[in-house]
Amino acid sequence: MKDVLDFSYESRPGRVVFRPGAATTATAGEAAGLGLRRLLVVCGRHGADTARAVADSLGPACVGLHDGARMHVPAEVADRAMEVARAAGADGLVAVGGGSSIGLGKAIALRTGLPLIAVPSTYSGSEMTPVWGLTEHGVKRTGRDPVVLPRSVVYDPALTLSLPVPLSVTSGINAIAHAVEALYAPDTSPLIALMAEEGVRAMTVALPALADAPDSLPDRGRALYGAWLCGSCLGATTMGLHHKLCHVLGGTFGLPHAETHTVVLPYALAYNAPAAPEAAATVARALDTTDAPNALRDLAESLGAPRSLAELGLKEADLAKAAGQTVGQAYANPREVTVEGALAVLRAAFEGGPPEFSGV
Ligand code: NAD
Repeated sequence: MKDVLDFSYESRPGRVVFRPGAATTATAGEAAGLGLRRLLVVCGRHGADTARAVADSLGPACVGLHDGARMHVPAEVADRAMEVARAAGADGLVAVGGGSSIGLGKAIALRTGLPLIAVPSTYSGSEMTPVWGLTEHGVKRTGRDPVVLPRSVVYDPALTLSLPVPLSVTSGINAIAHAVEALYAPDTSPLIALMAEEGVRAMTVALPALADAPDSLPDRGRALYGAWLCGSCLGATTMGLHHKLCHVLGGTFGLPHAETHTVVLPYALAYNAPAAPEAAATVARALDTTDAPNALRDLAESLGAPRSLAELGLKEADLAKAAGQTVGQAYANPREVTVEGALAVLRAAFEGGPPEFSGV
């Protein structure tokens, strides 16, 4: 690093326990360490069996299991869960599952101040961030509040064994996107750069291995370790063009979260790379390549992930609207985002060709 060092870094409180089997062997200890005696376990309907096992492991410290989590935390879902927490007299929350379950735990924590323990089962990284989201009348609002940051995170790679390979791949590349944008964020720092590079490396080594052997606990562990690092990067920095594009594509056009991140990332990085050469070089080093955008596209393609926004159901006629929304609000990005620039990125991602731009 040739520039004069100049950064702020906030170390966030929070414990991490990382071990196969930890969901049912460590969560009760984490709750006891926080002084919690009346825990409500929240999850989605699909993850209810796993959450039940975690609830059982808490013994009398569990006062209920609520399986109402839904994608993007609809406001009425959060209202209902909050009532359940109040009626049960909960003094703490345990969210078991992916970003949707952890999102519901955060929504309850936001309104009640109850401490949250997260037991993640995907690579979304939400457990490492103070970011909450709520969807009302079809519009998703997000914000930051330290009260929603889990006090303890229990990472159990065994929980992710059941994550289907296609979802593992897109969830993993979603995690990589957090690290990529953290590298060129205005609030990045040398520590973030270390975590981002290691996170991208761990995830890109793990994904092909677990696609070959989905039952491999070491590879599942490496992917979850990568997700932890990438999620920590997300929690500590401000995201740019890539996350903005995905937010618009998911929020306005209903495209699926992790798949959209997977398709857009090579193009967003190709657009930003000329303005963030050091970040692009770090990503390339982690991927063991000289061309990070193409390597990311090749990785996704080789693992059978969707390749284009067209494949995800976006209509060509929507590109201009999406580009307009992407430049509609100010946000941090290393390169100026013009309407033409956003449209070029979106069009390239729509077509799914090589992530290369000329003339923008
Ligand atoms: P998700 O929680 O909706 O899970 C996706 C699907 O996978 C669901 O059907 C779920 O039941 C299933 N699933 C989860 N774990 C499984 C497992 N181990 N085995 C089998 N199936 C499993 O989605 P996600 O991708 O984890 O998270 C996406 C959501 O999280 C989005 O709403 C996104 O906005 C949010 N998010 C928030 C943050 C934040 O910092 N606030 C960060 C990342 C993502």
